[in-house]
Amino acid sequence: MALYVQKYGGTSVGSVERIQAVAKKVKGFKDQGHDIVVTVSAMSGETNRLIALAKEMQVVPSPREMDVLLATGEQVTIALMSMALEHQGLKVRSYTGSQVRILTDNSHGKARIEDIDVQKIRDDLDAGIVVVVAGFQGADQHDNITTLGRGGSDTTGVALAAALKADECQIYTDVDGVYTTDPRVVEGAQRLSEITFEEMLEMASLGSKILQIRAVEFAGKYKVPLRVLSSFKEGPGTLITIEDDDKVEKPVISGIAFNRDEAKLTIMGVPDIPGVASKILGPISQANIEVDMILQNVAEDQSTDFTFTVHRNDFDQAKAVLQRTAKQLQAREVKGDNKIAKVSIVGVGMRSHAGVATKMFDALASENINIQMISTSEIKVSVVLAEKYLELAVRSLHSAFELGRNDTISE
Ligand code: ASP
Ligand code: MG
Repeated sequence: MALYVQKYGGTSVGSVERIQAVAKKVKGFKDQGHDIVVTVSAMSGETNRLIALAKEMQVVPSPREMDVLLATGEQVTIALMSMALEHQGLKVRSYTGSQVRILTDNSHGKARIEDIDVQKIRDDLDAGIVVVVAGFQGADQHDNITTLGRGGSDTTGVALAAALKADECQIYTDVDGVYTTDPRVVEGAQRLSEITFEEMLEMASLGSKILQIRAVEFAGKYKVPLRVLSSFKEGPGTLITIEDDDKVEKPVISGIAFNRDEAKLTIMGVPDIPGVASKILGPISQANIEVDMILQNVAEDQSTDFTFTVHRNDFDQAKAVLQRTAKQLQAREVKGDNKIAKVSIVGVGMRSHAGVATKMFDALASENINIQMISTSEIKVSVVLAEKYLELAVRSLHSAFELGRNDTISE
């Protein structure tokens, strides 16, 4: 018999019928003799609705009260879920984050879990009770309610699984697993039966929105076996695992991630002297704008063009900041482009295979797609290109690396 922590996301609990369907599913697991801890998100749309309400009260809502408000979304779901489970004839008990004692730090809106007191949950499980815990929330040491950041119920699930040493943390969502790429872009995209934590982390940070990044980090750190499955469709889903060195047919590339929310800024003709990069990026980070890729090129006249990418939402603000810097540094010009996208190939097999990047560039060249920027890590290669080529690029890479259902498998 196993202990599973099952997390059901917003769409999986989005209506009365769906909550009832989840309750039936849980009953099935319980009937097989497993111990089940359920953690839930707010019903889909609810968190956004609450945020909108708060903004009608205060332009910048009080962080403490915002958390009091947002935590209600998940509190509604644990109560409804518990009622549905009781209706299935199960013994149930619901807990808010602070009741379990999910202890967090005090950074409202992005709190980090410091400790979970599992005694109550263990006692309940021993008594045959299904435990239902509100996702996304906890309390700080002074009992202030905190929330973990958008998508934070994934982290609750993983943290509970780690603290309880569960056999698996199962994330139930509206897709039936992690795919080689977004099936809406590539018809032949395949579900991966396994992916490593490292790859999943790259995929998540590079634009695949299935799991919250922090949850994957957490699971990797505490080695919590994590599985993504559909709450609507039966199937094994995708298991996120530790890299298996003995595995023979390790794919070179596991997936292709992409992100349209990108924008690029260039400051041209700045002097090539120490301190310039920090003078350019300092004010950007002071404005709380995150920088992704950075590129610097020295021209023959010893002046530098400096390019970096930011989230598209930050484009206007970043450009204004950069224009001020340009005046101070007497730069020639500031240019910007917010119609770019980033496409990345990800795979741990890259470590042991040469020529992966070249193959990527060849595939893009054969479609006449211009690469504007490149960045690499041990297990990924990312390129920036014009947004209009995004789909074409993803499709051609998917087939170049033979990731599709109909592509032949080769070494
Ligand atoms: N309800 C929260 C959100 O919408 C947390 C979650 O769904 O994981 O971000
Ligand atoms: Mg979610």
